[in-house]
Amino acid sequence: MPKGRIFSGMRPTGRLHLGNYLGALENWVQLQDEYECYYGIVDLHALTTDYEDTSRIRENVRQLAIDFLSAGLDPEKSVILVQSHVKEHAELHLLLSMITPLGWLERVPTYKEQLRQLEGRDLTNYGFLGYPVLQAADISLYKADTVPVGEDQLPHLELCREIVRRFNHLYGEVLLEPQAKLNKVQLLPGVDGRKMSKSYGNEIPLGAEPEEVRARILSMITDPQRQRRNDPGRPEVCVAYTYHGIFNEPETQEISTECRRAGIGCVDCKKRLAERVIEATQLVREKRRQLEAHPELVDEILFEGARKARKVAQETLEEVREAMKIS
Ligand code: SF4
Repeated sequence: MPKGRIFSGMRPTGRLHLGNYLGALENWVQLQDEYECYYGIVDLHALTTDYEDTSRIRENVRQLAIDFLSAGLDPEKSVILVQSHVKEHAELHLLLSMITPLGWLERVPTYKEQLRQLEGRDLTNYGFLGYPVLQAADISLYKADTVPVGEDQLPHLELCREIVRRFNHLYGEVLLEPQAKLNKVQLLPGVDGRKMSKSYGNEIPLGAEPEEVRARILSMITDPQRQRRNDPGRPEVCVAYTYHGIFNEPETQEISTECRRAGIGCVDCKKRLAERVIEATQLVREKRRQLEAHPELVDEILFEGARKARKVAQETLEEVREAMKIS
């Protein structure tokens, strides 16, 4: 049976955190054995919101590549590419933008929501509105039949399918309608209990050094009613306990019992947790150190990824141009 093909991407906006790993990257690593995978560092997407200050974008691309590789994406199994290294992304985006009605873009729920969230920044530019068209181009360029997504991204994928249908209706069956593959998401809260996000400053960076992991975990929110060491705790409202459930599963029952009878203090409980998180991320950390010491290896992998990606992308573009009679 030929393998299905996947495209998925992440914006290079800085180092990834543990929430990104459990929410998406861990899934991507597993998919490598079942699918032919194209994983993109989508730097053009980063420009849709961060076009004013691009000073960190190159370094962010490198850091994201290191995160991908440290977390287990394997360039022998998957194509790891930087979007702007494959110019066909931009060309297909332009061509698809010609056939995409504005109304389709304006009704994407995340558009208005993000405009609200990023209030204060001037996002009344075409690039921001056209973000889902660029996504449709990313996916269609590789004729990916499957896209791993979270529930919140389903409307974008539906829009991609609509654009593909429209293209095929107008010019003939060239592009493929991708199917969603819903991620099995393990939600990891930030150390303050809110969604883990760099913009909240509540994240634990993927591959962080042990001292940083310990410091972050010691700052974690616990049961707010547990003021003194002798107060019994409620693990069900404690962020550290949520983490124990993920990183220290065999000891959760004991921690729960000890917490409820005030048999363990929060500091000791968090120290135990920190050691488990440090163990679980040991390999990622080691790989990250190796890659940071040899940036030329990262460059080679990205160069080779772009070469492989371009080959497929150019074939698709040939067909698209031919179908649109602009070749
Ligand atoms: S003892 Fe552990 S589980 Fe209980 S409140 Fe403190 S940190 Fe949370």
